[in-house]
Amino acid sequence: MLNFIGELQKRSPLIRLESFGKSEEGRSLPLMILSDSPISNPRDARATGKPIVFIMANIHAGEVEGKEAMLHLSRRILFGDLKPLLGKLIILIAPIYNADGNEKIDVNNRSAQNGPIAGVGVRENSKGYDLNRDYIKLDSPEARALINLCNRWDPHLTVDLHTTNGSYHGYHLTYSQPLNPNTSAAILSYHRDKMLPAITRAMLKNHNFRSYYYGNFPRFTNLPTPGEKTRWEAFTHQPRIGQNYHGLRNRLTILSEAYSYLTFKRRVEVTESFVEEIFKYAAANALEILQLTKRADDETVSGFSSNKTIEQGVEFEMRPLPKPVDILIGEVVKVKNPRSGKDMTAMVEDKFKPVRMDDYGIFAAKRSVVAPRAYIFKPEKNLEGVIEKLVQHGIAVEELTAPLQTEVDVFTIANATRAQRAFQNHREMKITGTYQKESMTFPAGTIIVRTAQPLGRLVCYLLEAESDDGLVDWNFFDSYLEAGKTFPVYKIMQTVNTASRLISNDAR
Ligand SMILES: [Zn+2]
Repeated sequence: MLNFIGELQKRSPLIRLESFGKSEEGRSLPLMILSDSPISNPRDARATGKPIVFIMANIHAGEVEGKEAMLHLSRRILFGDLKPLLGKLIILIAPIYNADGNEKIDVNNRSAQNGPIAGVGVRENSKGYDLNRDYIKLDSPEARALINLCNRWDPHLTVDLHTTNGSYHGYHLTYSQPLNPNTSAAILSYHRDKMLPAITRAMLKNHNFRSYYYGNFPRFTNLPTPGEKTRWEAFTHQPRIGQNYHGLRNRLTILSEAYSYLTFKRRVEVTESFVEEIFKYAAANALEILQLTKRADDETVSGFSSNKTIEQGVEFEMRPLPKPVDILIGEVVKVKNPRSGKDMTAMVEDKFKPVRMDDYGIFAAKRSVVAPRAYIFKPEKNLEGVIEKLVQHGIAVEELTAPLQTEVDVFTIANATRAQRAFQNHREMKITGTYQKESMTFPAGTIIVRTAQPLGRLVCYLLEAESDDGLVDWNFFDSYLEAGKTFPVYKIMQTVNTASRLISNDAR
């Protein structure tokens, strides 16, 4: 792959290669920068006034074809029919995000996938972390490098390329968008009401590929039996996965899932076509995308600093779209992989049938809390990890330069529950409790995190006591979590007038 990129570089001045970090095993993580004038840093990219579109492939290194598709697509952008795109977009491509996982290629990995028959890599990084569950806790050097890339380049649109081996549906590719209800409403509706329908139509019209929102039937690969009432279910609202994380950062993002039972060649084709249509859409709607993301940032800042009550969900549920939809049910057959001797599952491309059912494609908050103007906590030894994570996420963190006496909402823990089973080397924590108002005095040096910043929605998700995917959940507060104790992060609900200074750079 690096040889291929090297050959592109020899033949074109319009591509630059940088490394955005190192994998756990020390491999360089390549980032291709494609633009019609040489761009070496984010400031120059911003100055062009073009949207920055970021494509990442191989986060799950058994789901490989995004990497091949992006090499082929890069060649067309630099030398072929797609060259005009560079007049409208800055294109960033990380073709092999999980570089270590890719090297563990074996015919026994994802053996039911319909090729490549010589094998694929593994899902996890070399320490066993699933990089698409690591967006909040940032345990892996790969995830920290990726978020640093997001802080530096701040892409307007991110596309994450996968392969799905879920239910036997009739689509060549399924996709998803941010699903967390705490996301900007304008960002959520732009995906569902405008961008994704347009790309779906273009996929069918220009490439004859069927695509729809990612989902599964409840019994997964089992097809519904005749007459059975079934439904189509989206995955999760949690920002530990990329699509939801980028949404909370007020940015557009598309998850792409080529169908695992298509042949490898067809998966390369459908993934390439999908990204091509995303690029064409972004190029045709460049100004709108720039304005939408800017407005989402501005509204986050003004909303959290206004007198309006802004609620943030802490418990969520999946809900159906207002009307049932036709979901395509597909057919598969078994094909022997001559290298592994194992059965692969193969899509019968032309056999599909629409069945009307509810599409549980959206999430809603079941319970919400009121967002504060700021979170405030003492810089105790056990909270250094919290400060470190906030800074890694690109959040502006400040410290008081003078004492502050203020009324705060104090959360008293009624229950602290640790998950029975380990997940991603953690045992997730949940706390419940109640708030009461207290007047407190905080000395100089106390940490204060204001919500009136572009990443304000992410601030709430990370620091809310009852957040279902925040820093409590991922064990950053464990030493404080006991029934009867107070949670060490307090909420300031009114305007904060105090002297403070930044201890992190606001990345934007
Ligand atoms: Zn995946």
